[in-house]
Amino acid sequence: MIRYAASVAKPGQQFLVLFGAPGVGKGTFAKLLINDTKFNHISTGDEIRKILKGNTSKSFDPKLIATIKDIVAKGGLVSDEIVMNILQEKLKEPESAKGVILDGFPRTLRQLDLYEKILPTNVVVNVTLRGDILLEKLAARRTCVGCGTAFNVCDINRDGYVMEPLNPKKEGICDACGGKLVVRDDDKKEVIEQRMKEYDEKTHPLLDRYRAMGVVVDFEVKKGKKDYPRLWDLVKQKLRI
Ligand code: ADP
Ligand code: ZN
Repeated sequence: MIRYAASVAKPGQQFLVLFGAPGVGKGTFAKLLINDTKFNHISTGDEIRKILKGNTSKSFDPKLIATIKDIVAKGGLVSDEIVMNILQEKLKEPESAKGVILDGFPRTLRQLDLYEKILPTNVVVNVTLRGDILLEKLAARRTCVGCGTAFNVCDINRDGYVMEPLNPKKEGICDACGGKLVVRDDDKKEVIEQRMKEYDEKTHPLLDRYRAMGVVVDFEVKKGKKDYPRLWDLVKQKLRI
């Protein structure tokens, strides 16, 4: 059973969903969007990693942490209950008042059902990237153990796809916090495959629902961060800014 503190959108509050397979760059585009929208960024993946590191104000049962750790390590999805709780907590932040960028949520039809009971969806950006490029990019991701910022060592230039590396200023060290950069456990090859499978089976079906709602903006990534102005042009038409 999931219980809610009654939660509805605040006047003028808008909700943007970044939708797409693992590794398409949702987190990177979210950070750029924050700057233009001044919305809050809610990444359920980032929040789950904070829970696993014990980096939260609330304390969690060690058994629950162990369970979550195991699921994430195998590329599975954590329970809808946990994710909905994360959402509720993040919505309380003052930064959420103007709007919210949802990144990595909702990821199951049930999460979408639960979400729709309490909040609207103004725009869904369907971020896509050709499969082979996506896999190469995902394997090249380096993540900060301290703050979770993602960098990328890929260097792709073929068929019109240009993905320059997103290197830190100092090799192996996070620009934002000085933390060490590592390959996330779930960015290892077998786990990536499982995450893609979960996406295809459980998350991708949400797109039909969003299309029926008429809120989808399709956005194909070709040059990574450099595609952002095109993304912003599309998004801005759908939001009250
Ligand atoms: P990516 O988008 O690169 O796959 P995330 O950082 O969004 O990765 O998520 C990492 C992991 O956290 C997922 O593989 C999953 O185990 C868990 N997770 C994140 N968001 C959700 C969600 N909405 N529902 C269930 N599990 C989630
Ligand atoms: Zn960092």
